[in-house]
Amino acid sequence: MSFRLILAGPPGAGKGTQATTVSERLGIPAISTGEIFRSEMASQSDVGLEAQRYISEGNLVPDSVTNEIVRRRLAQPDAAEGFLLDGYPRTLDQISALDEMLADDGLSIDAMLDIEISDEEIMGRLLKRAEIEGRADDTPEVIAHRISVYHEATEPILDAFRERGKLISINGLGTIGEVRERIVAAVNERLGLD
Ligand code: ADP
Repeated sequence: MSFRLILAGPPGAGKGTQATTVSERLGIPAISTGEIFRSEMASQSDVGLEAQRYISEGNLVPDSVTNEIVRRRLAQPDAAEGFLLDGYPRTLDQISALDEMLADDGLSIDAMLDIEISDEEIMGRLLKRAEIEGRADDTPEVIAHRISVYHEATEPILDAFRERGKLISINGLGTIGEVRERIVAAVNERLGLD
């Protein structure tokens, strides 16, 4: 069985943590655009240097750059039998690009899992993470900007998947284990696993 899933949710919703669980459980690679950008920035590649200007201010990297990165990643052999995208698509343009990439092979997305948390919770979690991980985009000003970018640019993509009957909302409040159980239960139900 092959599964093509998207993990969505505001910054700090715990996407990265939960993506690992889901990908191990289903045997599909977790592909995080944020992670790819951070590794490109660390190696100071052309893409990394371009992305850094946007990421450091809490803005989205331009769609043309992001779509190309995903196109190349999905062409790798390990993604042929399914994948979990973490943090992509985040704009309507990215949805169209992804649809096209998959349609070329007669494929489509099975479900979008959306981890929901409030703005207050986002701020608290990211400030705490800043102390631990020291990510440059976890300062109060940049976090506030990322939250507003999320509401403006990214929330509309939830409607697109809701209209397709593909949106699964997950309550993101609680411990990592509690949220994991909700996600596993929702995935099992939707994909007919046990
Ligand atoms: P978070 O979910 O906390 O924002 P990510 O690691 O997913 O963390 O993303 C970090 C940053 O990387 C984003 O603020 C954005 O600048 C950039 N980025 C990640 N994914 C995308 C995307 N799909 N489109 C544009 N920019 C992205």
